[in-house]
Amino acid sequence: TSGATEMVDKYLYHMRLSDETLLDISNRFRKEMEKGLGKDTNPTASVKMLPTFVCSTPDGTEKGDFLALDLGGTNFRVLYVKVSDNGKQKVEMQNQIYAIPENLMRGSGSQLFDHIAECLANFLEKLEIKDKKLPLGFTFSFPCQQNKLDESILLNWTKGFKASGVEGRDVVGLLRKAIRKRGDFDIDVVAVVNDTVGTMMTCGYDDHNCEVGLIIGTGTNACYMEEMRHIDLVEGDEGRMCINMEWGAFGDDCVLDDVRTEFDREIDMGSLNPGKQLFEKMISGMYMGELVRLIMVKMAKENLLFGGKITPSLLTTGHFETTFVSAIEKDKDGLEKANEVLSKLGLDPSHEDCLATQRICQIVSERAANLCAATLAGVLRQIKENKAVDRLRTTVGVDGSVYKKHPQKIYISKLVGTQMVRRLVPDCDVRFLRSEDGSGKGAAMVTAVAYRLASQQAE
Ligand code: BGC
Ligand code: MG
Repeated sequence: TSGATEMVDKYLYHMRLSDETLLDISNRFRKEMEKGLGKDTNPTASVKMLPTFVCSTPDGTEKGDFLALDLGGTNFRVLYVKVSDNGKQKVEMQNQIYAIPENLMRGSGSQLFDHIAECLANFLEKLEIKDKKLPLGFTFSFPCQQNKLDESILLNWTKGFKASGVEGRDVVGLLRKAIRKRGDFDIDVVAVVNDTVGTMMTCGYDDHNCEVGLIIGTGTNACYMEEMRHIDLVEGDEGRMCINMEWGAFGDDCVLDDVRTEFDREIDMGSLNPGKQLFEKMISGMYMGELVRLIMVKMAKENLLFGGKITPSLLTTGHFETTFVSAIEKDKDGLEKANEVLSKLGLDPSHEDCLATQRICQIVSERAANLCAATLAGVLRQIKENKAVDRLRTTVGVDGSVYKKHPQKIYISKLVGTQMVRRLVPDCDVRFLRSEDGSGKGAAMVTAVAYRLASQQAE
């Protein structure tokens, strides 16, 4: 290792978490899960463990034409999904990405929902299906309290959203109202799902062992199938229900204060939701590049980088993108990329500066991967105990922009932390399945399953 690498390793000592610390974090997370599931402890729990009313995964007999909306990730999308069942089940889809300008993300809620309805109208026109009243699944990737499949009350916005008048309201009601106001088309909103649930459902379609959904994208979160008897908030003890954990809020009650660094605190203070989603802010795509930037600024100020030079661009929020982190940490052309990125920031980096920057990126993304592995290990142990088996075989469906954009080798072994997961839960065989368009397609799958169950009940 070079001097630059060693220097960074020392400087970021607090960000390099030992196996022992990770196991400890994993145990803390198990306690938070329990707290969220319990009736008396739930109101004060930071990890909300939200019931989703999704109780069955696809069985392969679903069919029909469905619409889906996908809001809350990197892109807002409208999808048309055709599920056919002649012999072998097949899923075909068409989709369109629409922009959501920042002023709508943070403006009034009614404007936001008007815009969503308008995009939907545009999509239906393009496909010439405006006259059909199709069932729609809504992937809405924010913490929601659900009382049934088609009612979903937003608890609080996360990530880059902060539209007024939506928190505390049922988003299905807001969507229906915006559509009715237009009066040029009609749809049947059947289900609202979190993106983690959509991902689990999409993967569950290919692999019936899939019982966990994981997102590492703009935000981070996971869901899993829990035993009804452990879900105090929903009556009934039979069978299982998917729980949207909302693990991004892990640490909001201070239980991670000893592992958070000054950089994590700075990110939080400058965010749209200070004090909230503290775990998410250590991990997800919305914050990872910014973490690296803050570290570089401080090191430059202390004359440890760039010969002490600081540029206006380096000081600007958002100028170090999360995609740079994965590009720079690559062994092969990462250093060249570092040189390119730093030069664009107006710096004049030496070889040592590039090496140091690469090491910073590695440490930040490795910490993110390891923290995810720690919470995931907690979930896997819960499932294993539920099933009372000696060895658990299970599949985790994964999606999200960070996960996808990381170089192959890194995201399999590191970002999703399979190696770490295996170290933390040795008696478990995990398979990670990358979901293609999971979050959006999944909403259509949930809708399809709901349709199948409804028609079976009618028979
Ligand atoms: C939201 C979750 C979502 C996750 C990934 C978080 O900010 O609270 O509902 O699943 O981001 O998109
Ligand atoms: Mg129960």
